[in-house]
Amino acid sequence: REHETKEKLSKMIELMDGFKASKVLFTASKLRVFDVLRSSKTGELRAEDVAQEIKASVKGTERLLEACVSLGLLQRTGKEYANTAMSRHFLLSDAPLSLQGYIQHCNELVWPLFTHLESAVREGTNQHEKAFGKSSDNIFQDAYYSRHEVKLRFMRAMHSIAKVSGRDVATAFDLSKYKTACDLGGCTGAMAYEFAKAHPGLSVTMFDLPEVIEMSGHFRPHDADDRVSFVAGDFFKDELPKADVYILARILHDWSDEKVHFLLSKIAKACNPGCCVLVSEIFLDEDRKGPSRGLLQALSMTEGRQRSASEYSLLLRSHGFTAAHVKHTHNLLDAILCVNE
Ligand code: SAM
Repeated sequence: REHETKEKLSKMIELMDGFKASKVLFTASKLRVFDVLRSSKTGELRAEDVAQEIKASVKGTERLLEACVSLGLLQRTGKEYANTAMSRHFLLSDAPLSLQGYIQHCNELVWPLFTHLESAVREGTNQHEKAFGKSSDNIFQDAYYSRHEVKLRFMRAMHSIAKVSGRDVATAFDLSKYKTACDLGGCTGAMAYEFAKAHPGLSVTMFDLPEVIEMSGHFRPHDADDRVSFVAGDFFKDELPKADVYILARILHDWSDEKVHFLLSKIAKACNPGCCVLVSEIFLDEDRKGPSRGLLQALSMTEGRQRSASEYSLLLRSHGFTAAHVKHTHNLLDAILCVNE
């Protein structure tokens, strides 16, 4: 029994300290600790040298680096600190699977929102106004895209998640019989390029708001495939490009059931016969007891909601997309493919 109590206590401690651990990760990333260590000749540096590089106090840097070691973000031999395999993989700013963009988004946007969680729960509303002094009816146009650097930070965040999860989403289903796809709300195009890479016969149109499309050059990969093209528009107001496959990756969770129905009805009208919709999201367990990643995200209180695979399937079914195939990718995003039979 004593053992069980200790286990529960250590779980409690982990939960109580979780926010400190997140902030250590955010701060070390923002101060570019991982990039600084990688750039040194031997890949190792003492705390004083890191402090000089990141222009911070030695005392503060030492404590930050020690905390990073305890969290598995860095390793230390004698007085020398170095990156771990995990930080080399996910925290260097130019790593192919870098999560830097998303981490900065969490630090600058999600963290301030979550400091107002109590009000968010009391009111059941988004706390943008309290956190940033500005209300936002449309989170994208009013909050994310109103300032250039905020837009770029949001796009970098989306880009990093799409780079990490894109391949698993793109290869989740056999799409070889389809010729054209349209990635609605495709943001930087990272997911569209993954689909083009995974399916040599598929041409992909990336559709997003004009403010986003004008930045697409910034995220264009070196080996960009010319089967990916970009179209600017508003998926609630403008005509949708015709396609065999409509990709909705991390789109539907932002919108109410009413708006989801509106968008799906537009897709059903635009699509070629036999076409399909591929929805990629965090799928909640059917009993809504997990995964906590999805349930925690729901607390940012956008007008949308987190749903399970069967809830997505039901929404799609009412627009004629019946045969549903579900893939749990064990990556950041799952996928469901519903075909218009
Ligand atoms: N699909 C991308 C991914 O998985 O990386 C980005 C997901 S992001 C959460 C939502 C995207 O929807 C943003 O790129 C945003 O600009 C786009 N979006 C929001 N409202 C839109 C609208 N009315 N018309 C077109 N795109 C829209």
